[in-house]
Amino acid sequence: MSKKFFVTTPIYYINDLPHIGHAYATFAADILIRYHKLLGEKTLLLTGSDENSQKTLDAAKKRGVTVEDYSSGMVANWQSTWGKLQIADGEFKFVRTTNIDHAKFVQDFFQKIYDNGYIEEGVYEGLYCVGHEAFIKESDLDESGVCPDHKTKPQLLKEKNYFFKLKDFSKQLLELYSKNPDFILPTERRNEVVSFVRSGLENISISREGSSWGIKVPFDQNQVIYVWFDALLSYYSTTSKEFWPADVHIIGKDILRFHAVIWPAMLLAAGFENYLPKKIFAHGFFTITGTKISKSLGNAIDPIKVSEEFGLDTLRYFLFKELPFGHDGDFSLERLREIYNSDLANGLGNLVSRVAKLAESLDLTGVRENKTPLFDSTFRIHLDKLEFHQALEYIWKKIKDADKKLESTKPWELVKTDKEAAAAIVENLILQVIEIQELLLPFIPDTAEKIRLQFSKSKIKSTKPLFPRK
Ligand SMILES: [Zn+2]
Repeated sequence: MSKKFFVTTPIYYINDLPHIGHAYATFAADILIRYHKLLGEKTLLLTGSDENSQKTLDAAKKRGVTVEDYSSGMVANWQSTWGKLQIADGEFKFVRTTNIDHAKFVQDFFQKIYDNGYIEEGVYEGLYCVGHEAFIKESDLDESGVCPDHKTKPQLLKEKNYFFKLKDFSKQLLELYSKNPDFILPTERRNEVVSFVRSGLENISISREGSSWGIKVPFDQNQVIYVWFDALLSYYSTTSKEFWPADVHIIGKDILRFHAVIWPAMLLAAGFENYLPKKIFAHGFFTITGTKISKSLGNAIDPIKVSEEFGLDTLRYFLFKELPFGHDGDFSLERLREIYNSDLANGLGNLVSRVAKLAESLDLTGVRENKTPLFDSTFRIHLDKLEFHQALEYIWKKIKDADKKLESTKPWELVKTDKEAAAAIVENLILQVIEIQELLLPFIPDTAEKIRLQFSKSKIKSTKPLFPRK
């Protein structure tokens, strides 16, 4: 049986259209899928929509449509975006948390934890931020008493809730982190979680009273299950068991505690210790030309528009070259154009075109099959740790090396005195181009395929540039 690889993106809120930040996380999952597929593994990319949130209700109300119509319309939009961006070549699974199978799974899971003695009744008294879909502390608010992230006043709640005994899992969680140093990446995020758990966990409310929207607690019709409890289970609720556990959960750093603390504790409480995810990777956030992405500023960038103007591969390359995965950064179209010209047009594009021209003039044959194994060990280590930035640097170093070799050997001059020697140099450069092409496959698949086609023909011919200067 071949190995399997299962990666998830966050299950996105659909009260807004997908923007470049969502595309960033989803491309990351796609890079991993392409990489593992090339290694011959059976792959699954799961993405989806978190619909059982108050936000969905509010957004539908604002537009005067039913929540069902609103959700299906938005879901269609998100699905078509991932299709247009060629995520996993269209072979991704999209889970909706309003799906009936999902709801059934969530209720069974809730019941299981209850039966195992990890859910108790209690009264919750405190503040709740709908924007966060989370309980929020007085100390988190700004001077005017609003949530600093959402600029809204939190609701004051006092109601009967069911509580998950998160405290009971502190020891097991700390053991999990120390036994699996790569369980949470990057390391700064891991340290953050470890010190959070060490500082002492509290039991958490996992239901809301009297809400009409959401999945009902199986044994109490007056309570709906907390939207995060429900959303986390979407990773497993509709996926085939053969893919469990998830190999990587790609998330934003703002939802790290849900994934690195609550989610594994939930799995342990249900007796799913064999299905603990292998890795949780929290990416950073980026600003758009220096300002925060915000709905009110209307500065959200549509990934489809950028890819139509510059090409999908350009967008993919730029995001992971310019915004090291796991760190914060800044996105600007001006910078994208710069990188396009320097790295893609002048770097990769120029090398490929020069080598092809030389090969054509020397009447050389293409390489049908590369003899070295796909992906060397350095590259594999980078990909396994989701070090996309370093992987790209590694590839571009090879491009520079090949350029240097061209410049120092000057086969276009050598050919006048020693054709055989010139041909030998160019043949070697062809192999280098093919090696680069293979490493590019997970990152810029269309370009890699074009290079492969050009260099596998019985006669290599020069073609129009891969990246015309802009
Ligand atoms: Zn908030």
